[in-house]
Amino acid sequence: MENESKMKDPVLPLGRPTVGSAPGPGTTGNWRTSRPVFIEDQCTKCYQCWMNCPEGTIRVDAKGEYPYVDYVYCKGCGVCVHVCPADALIMEKE
Ligand code: SF4
Ligand code: SF4
Repeated sequence: MENESKMKDPVLPLGRPTVGSAPGPGTTGNWRTSRPVFIEDQCTKCYQCWMNCPEGTIRVDAKGEYPYVDYVYCKGCGVCVHVCPADALIMEKE
């Protein structure tokens, strides 16, 4: 039963590197060269971006909401843009 309840509300632990980040543990600092930006009109809320972000920095606050990026921790890797099936994410230069 414990495993069943975990599957209903999956919460992944966030990566938090403590060396080389500023101003605090896991934060990206100013070295990111580009960032993902949502185009809400094209988003189908499939949440592939949320599931595949290696940093766990795409958030969905409530069921049915559009996802958004926590730029304090986003590393600008572009995985979310790559997996989005609706072209609802683009990378923009910082
Ligand atoms: S993967 Fe694309 S379409 Fe799916 S929720 Fe993310 S931005 Fe929206
Ligand atoms: S660019 Fe990388 S770290 Fe940033 S939200 Fe997309 S997948 Fe996550």
